[in-house]
Amino acid sequence: MPDLSEDLRLPEACPNCGSHLYRVSGAHNPDDKVVCASCNHHLCSYEEAAKMLKEGSSSESEALIEKVVNRNDK
Ligand SMILES: [Zn+2]
Repeated sequence: MPDLSEDLRLPEACPNCGSHLYRVSGAHNPDDKVVCASCNHHLCSYEEAAKMLKEGSSSESEALIEKVVNRNDK
């Protein structure tokens, strides 16, 4: 089985290393684990991450970066 994980950028920084880049399974199940791409810290479920993205970012520039990084999902 190939690794189908995808990169995901979230407004929430990793509490461990401060990175905004996370990794999630390409299956996008609501209870899939979202882990930090740098240190593998388990942040939340995909359901929570999707909610975070839907609610939007605190800043416009951050929203723009997320749009660029996450555009492969579309
Ligand atoms: Zn981290």
